[in-house]
Amino acid sequence: MGTLTMKFGGTSVGSVEALRQAADIVLAQAREWEHLVVVVSAMNGVTDALIKGARTAAEGDDHTYRGVVADLRVRSYRAVDDLLTNPGERRALLAAVDGYLDEFTAFCHSVRILGEVTPRAMDTISSLGERINARLIAAMLRCRGAESEAIDATELIVTDDAFQNAVPLMDLTRERIQARLTPLLERSVIPIVTGFMGATVEGITTTLGRGGSDYSAAIVGACLDSDEVWTWTDVDGIMSADPRLVPDARVIPILSYAEVSELAYFGAKVLHPRTIRPCIERAIPLWVKNTFNPASPGTRVNSEAESTPGAVKAVTAIQGLSMITVEGRGMMGVPGIAARTFAAVARQGSSVLLIIQASSEQSICFVIPSKDAPAVARSVEQEMALELARRDIEQVRVMDGVVIVSAVGAGMRHTPGVAARVFGALSQAGINVIGIAQGSSECSISLIVAADDATAAVQEIHREVIINGSR
Ligand code: ASP
Ligand code: MG
Repeated sequence: MGTLTMKFGGTSVGSVEALRQAADIVLAQAREWEHLVVVVSAMNGVTDALIKGARTAAEGDDHTYRGVVADLRVRSYRAVDDLLTNPGERRALLAAVDGYLDEFTAFCHSVRILGEVTPRAMDTISSLGERINARLIAAMLRCRGAESEAIDATELIVTDDAFQNAVPLMDLTRERIQARLTPLLERSVIPIVTGFMGATVEGITTTLGRGGSDYSAAIVGACLDSDEVWTWTDVDGIMSADPRLVPDARVIPILSYAEVSELAYFGAKVLHPRTIRPCIERAIPLWVKNTFNPASPGTRVNSEAESTPGAVKAVTAIQGLSMITVEGRGMMGVPGIAARTFAAVARQGSSVLLIIQASSEQSICFVIPSKDAPAVARSVEQEMALELARRDIEQVRVMDGVVIVSAVGAGMRHTPGVAARVFGALSQAGINVIGIAQGSSECSISLIVAADDATAAVQEIHREVIINGSR
């Protein structure tokens, strides 16, 4: 009983089999909950294809977008044929699909003539996959005897006009969501809401950023005061490590909001902190579940941290980084060096992933994406030209090919010896640690290692601290 908001990601609604499975899940949960709302993504790959179609059209290509239309037509028609048993529903949906594809064709045609695609046009174009899918799924549920209605989130989610990365205006959104969805829910109609999109106050379509359907679900869930939000994906939950690196990685049963944010920051492909904020603010638990294995419980994300025996819940790695070191004996006790260094970094628009300064104050070291390293190093050198000439700063050194490996778990705050185990694991494997940082939240320990050591570092920490640590 209560209200449940569920979201299906692209692979969960990307094929006839997946759509059938998703419908089974919706119908099963509709029996369990008093109110059920569903948020859907486009079929996997569709958003990419739409964006590519529009981009190539802007470059004068008259061909690629027509190919996208042909592919989308085949994919949508097949789903309609296989899933909609009612002839009236079928006809209506085929007409709707044709209408959207004609709209897309017309858009790409004008983009080609204009020779550019504005962010505003891109939002209208790229959200088409969600609009088709919401209609398809609502029709499918009706064919299976449920009451369901497709709703474009342009009616629900009011945003600013930062096209392609819009920010919801929560008060207005809350009013609209309640006014539009509550009457449906009271009549036991299942609303199928398009993920990813919203609209400005004037009604112009916006999108919430790539992968934005999670955000949509959190917004809808929060505005309806849902008891829970479930996001359906194609893995069993959030894993203790990337299973491609660590074959015995396991599903983490419970994570706190803080832990999941830390994980996302350190490169795990999980819920983005920004997208779950609406749930965090209302303390609504979030579940990550597998559409293709619905019996497995998945991962629960909520406000309370629950520590596991090993204190560390996951290990991640961010690849493709460089470490920059500003060093010199003349830096000691001189105020402003750090501020000027990072101002010089910021001028290049580079985001710093990790900073280390030992209290001897003879060096500052930070890690940034390698693609930014040459420009950032030059910018810091320019900023410090005088200090470099005076030899107060000896050099600005760039070390390419480093990786940040992070062990994440709120339990390490109360558990002595976690760092020792992490380092023990690495020293046993003969892995050299280049740098170390621990935020004062004590929710993670991060190490800088050489790119060649990254896989072994993740595997060793996983085995020693997570698998053995929980025994
Ligand atoms: N379809 C959108 C995208 O691919 C939104 C989402 O899937 O979450 O970015
Ligand atoms: Mg997606």
